[in-house]
Amino acid sequence: SRPRRLAVHVHPYGEGRRLLLSRDVTALEQAETMRRDFVANVSHEIRTPLTVLSGFVETLQTLELSREERDRYLGMMAQQTQRMQMLVADLLTLSRLEGSPPPGEGEWIALQALLAQCEQDARALAAAQGKALRLGFAPAPPLALGGAPGELQSALSNLVSNAVRYTPSGGAVEVQAEAGEGGRVVLSVRDTGPGIAPEHLPRLTERFYRLDRSRSRETGGTGLGLAIVKHVVQRHGGELRIASTPGQGSTFAIVLPAARVRAVPAEVQAGTA
Ligand code: ADP
Repeated sequence: SRPRRLAVHVHPYGEGRRLLLSRDVTALEQAETMRRDFVANVSHEIRTPLTVLSGFVETLQTLELSREERDRYLGMMAQQTQRMQMLVADLLTLSRLEGSPPPGEGEWIALQALLAQCEQDARALAAAQGKALRLGFAPAPPLALGGAPGELQSALSNLVSNAVRYTPSGGAVEVQAEAGEGGRVVLSVRDTGPGIAPEHLPRLTERFYRLDRSRSRETGGTGLGLAIVKHVVQRHGGELRIASTPGQGSTFAIVLPAARVRAVPAEVQAGTA
């Protein structure tokens, strides 16, 4: 770890006497460095698609293109625009999550509903990416989670989307919701993708931390997904666990405390209430 930094102030007091005050500013400086890195990263992430876009605009302005060529350029421009929109949406989500207090338990969502939505998203994404993946969604126990359902939904969907994006065709993605020990709930997403080397694991949830920049962008990532997941999970009093074996795959698990869990009445499960 880095050496600690002390700020020292010298106050003259009385005759010829001085008071020395020192304050540990290590944390302050680290926060400032992180903030600066973040702004630099955001600027870079926005500049890249903008550069591509302005190049296309110039091409369209200067060259006589066939209808097909023009459509191809417009398609690529739409892609870059969408990328920036996703980035801005994720940035806003992150800042909203950082600035607001933990959600109460006023709203509940059944695990079964949570998984059903994720399954739909996963199938759509796999199809959009032209991937043949075995997608397994186990039946969920009759439990519901309290908090911000939209956030929980997007946290799990983010993990499933990563699993789909990073796992090559022919692989498998399995999603499961289980009752864990002490009344907790464990939502896990397991894939047979490339896996993650242990040295990367501690930093994986940092904003814009990626193993492979170009691949992540190609597959449509903003670099903020796991940072968002971690925030949502922590806001709900839970934790995000990551286990991975390079060459074999990864498991991302959201563990939520018993305080966020309750049983769903049978008639609700059956869809009659
Ligand atoms: P990104 O938009 O880059 O996917 P994330 O925050 O979701 O951003 O993930 C951060 C990085 O963690 C990714 O760039 C990728 O390198 C790695 N990663 C995330 N999920 C997986 C996974 N299921 N398999 C392998 N690597 C992953």
